[in-house]
Amino acid sequence: MKILIAADMEGITGVVHADQTDATHPEYQRFRRLMTADVNAAIRGAFDGGADEVVVSDGHGGARNILIEELDGRARLNSGSPSPFSMMQGIDGDIQGVILAGYHARMGTPNAILDHTWSSARVAGVWLNGDPVGEIGLNAALAGHFGAPVIMISGDQTACAEAASLVGSLETVVVKQATGRTSAECLPPEVTQVKIHDAAKRAVKRLREGKAPKPLRVVTPVIVAVELIRSEMADAVSLLPGARRSDKRIEVTADEMAAAYRAFRSIVGLASL
Ligand SMILES: [Zn+2]
Repeated sequence: MKILIAADMEGITGVVHADQTDATHPEYQRFRRLMTADVNAAIRGAFDGGADEVVVSDGHGGARNILIEELDGRARLNSGSPSPFSMMQGIDGDIQGVILAGYHARMGTPNAILDHTWSSARVAGVWLNGDPVGEIGLNAALAGHFGAPVIMISGDQTACAEAASLVGSLETVVVKQATGRTSAECLPPEVTQVKIHDAAKRAVKRLREGKAPKPLRVVTPVIVAVELIRSEMADAVSLLPGARRSDKRIEVTADEMAAAYRAFRSIVGLASL
């Protein structure tokens, strides 16, 4: 049994502010260590639940956050950017279950630490076939394309609820109760690491027993719509072959979800001004 742990930073234990996730800020060094510790707890749990292989994807910013020198020696780490599947690098047909560690709610969600979708400077909203999604939805749909369900998430209560509404009864670990975009009541690492370990163990055990949630499969072809923040971003993105524009919203149709994911990343890339 092969498990992918896709890790982001905003939903990591103790994170409440963008400074803590910004590699140029002094506080970042503490929080990348906490990110590594949350991921290690998930790795231990996955192996204790019966995983044979664990692959980790570092999914925040330039994907160079997790400290490999502190990573559980049984795992492998996908690091660096750009990579073919970005936050989900390592996904393929051999992955049987996906754990989202340190994830956050989609752009515009109240009571959600650092809510955004890929880029808070560029992306106001994303829809797959008309349904609003954030990073949880995009990545769960990509996993579903490869036949893998999302079996667990850690983050604030709002990210956990967003994942449950998309994929059903996955294991959830609320590491903090968000009371705003940059405020939360946080559990300390000695508590969250136990919770993350135990949930990952249960999630993999349920997967082995056929009791995990189903993969999230979107209907094909997939219509990806992205509402951009500013009009000149839509000007730039409308150069993409096949793009349809309505005000600041750009829409493309892709044959399947992996192509839709690439199209989404191309839209966000073109929108960089
Ligand atoms: Zn993110």
